[in-house]
Amino acid sequence: MPRYRKRRRVEHIPSCRHFKPAGIPAYDLEEVVLRVEEMEALRLKDLLGLDQETGAERMNVSRPTFQRILVEAHRKVAEALVEGKALRIEGGAYDFRQNHGRCPRCDYSRVQKGAFHCPKCNWEL
Ligand SMILES: [Zn+2]
Repeated sequence: MPRYRKRRRVEHIPSCRHFKPAGIPAYDLEEVVLRVEEMEALRLKDLLGLDQETGAERMNVSRPTFQRILVEAHRKVAEALVEGKALRIEGGAYDFRQNHGRCPRCDYSRVQKGAFHCPKCNWEL
C-alpha cells in the first residue's frame, strides 16, 4: 500500500508568490520552488517566532516533521539568496484553513471575520 501522505495545515498563503533578483531577465534565471507548507513553516517559526512545538501543532504535524520542513525551507531560501536564483512559492500537500481570526503577520488572535486590517499591527489582510 502506498504511504498516505498527511496534508499539512496552512493558515496563510502569501499574495506575492514569485521573487526574482533585480536586473536579470527571468529567462536567464534558475528558479527555486518553495512549497506552500515550507513557506508556512517559515512564517510560523521565523516571522511569528513560535516555538517548534507550537508550529508543529498549528500545521498538524509532528515536531520532527515540522523541523524537517523548516530545514528544507531555510535551505531553499539560502540557495536563492546565495546563488541569485528566482524563488517561486507553489505546490505541496496542504489544506488551506482560511483566516480563522488570526493575523498572518503578528498572530493577533481576535481579528474579526471579514476585517480588512489587523487592529494590532494594522497589516492589510
Ligand atoms: Zn497583525
